[in-house]
Amino acid sequence: MPASNLLQPVRFEQDDARARGRAHGELWRPQIHELAELRVALCLERAGYRDREALERVAAAHLPVLAAEEPALHEELLGIAEGADLSPERVLVLNHYTDLRDIPGAAGPQRDAGEPDGCTAIYLYGEHGAVLGQTWDMHATAAPFVRVMHLLPPGGVEVLCLTLTGCLGLAGLGQHGVAVTINNLNSTDARVGLVWPALVRSMLAASDARAAYERLLAAPLSSGHHYMIADGRAYFGVECSGELKVLTQVGPKAAHLHTNHCFDPVLRGRERLVPGTTSFARLDMATTLYAQQRPRDVDGLWALLGSHDGYPRSICAHVDDLRGDPSASRTCARIAMMPAHGRMRVAPGCSRDDQPLELALDRFVPAAAAGPLH
Ligand SMILES: [Zn+2]
Repeated sequence: MPASNLLQPVRFEQDDARARGRAHGELWRPQIHELAELRVALCLERAGYRDREALERVAAAHLPVLAAEEPALHEELLGIAEGADLSPERVLVLNHYTDLRDIPGAAGPQRDAGEPDGCTAIYLYGEHGAVLGQTWDMHATAAPFVRVMHLLPPGGVEVLCLTLTGCLGLAGLGQHGVAVTINNLNSTDARVGLVWPALVRSMLAASDARAAYERLLAAPLSSGHHYMIADGRAYFGVECSGELKVLTQVGPKAAHLHTNHCFDPVLRGRERLVPGTTSFARLDMATTLYAQQRPRDVDGLWALLGSHDGYPRSICAHVDDLRGDPSASRTCARIAMMPAHGRMRVAPGCSRDDQPLELALDRFVPAAAAGPLH
């Protein structure tokens, strides 16, 4: 089966969030069990949890926050757990893995968070408007679990999103043209907070980029991420730690690049750089390639995201090859969105095997049809 078939969008048309989650959980039950087990093991290996019970206690503490902040997405997560026949705590670990690694475990000192993982995200304003894309880099063992969900609730907001089996969503595009990408940041002030894939889904459903930005500002976060939010007319790049949020990038007509370290000086005091991180090398490479290639459209951005210059610390990342370690970081998917057109390009794995899928929203309603760029 061609790898791109993994990313053929799966449609979920339930209005009821619990039923939608249950369908998701039933469809990918064995994969959800496998990925949850992988991530529990990685959390125990890389963070300061004494044992599974300690990890699950911290995971469980996130459920009431999710219920209070995003009741429908809480229902959807419980539905995934029911459908997959797995505990909600395990599904929580699957979703919130990167942040759970940063939260000090019950057993004391944080161990090396390990994985110098990444993601390279790029925004540009080209000949046909805004384009926002990223590589999705994570433990290479996650690659078989990458999927695309096409959510089409008759009474709700349509969303196309990249995800993992059992996960609420990683990045994507909503019916009103709000596109969101993510870079992981490792924070020293991590805490129990809102499960970040639920926040992504909430932002994708927003009426425009500003509303998504305001949702982010109001969210009690758990650990660090950089969020890029664009709707074709507005752009927000926001660096966050567990406790702080700083708008570091604005300007929809500019180009913006980000990897996995903070630009903001205050946030730099809240970040833990993982030894061996490729973040600086990838940002340098992306900046150089951007200046050389001057990408003007989705094809240009796509070529940049697939670059192997500097391999294996390249934008299309292959750190797992370097270390011979299948739990080291690799580009597991690439995504590019054209928010003003309701379109998305997505492909699994390495750009050498490029088999992108071109996807479109069925019910696209452009955000802020009138008004100046801001
Ligand atoms: Zn590659």
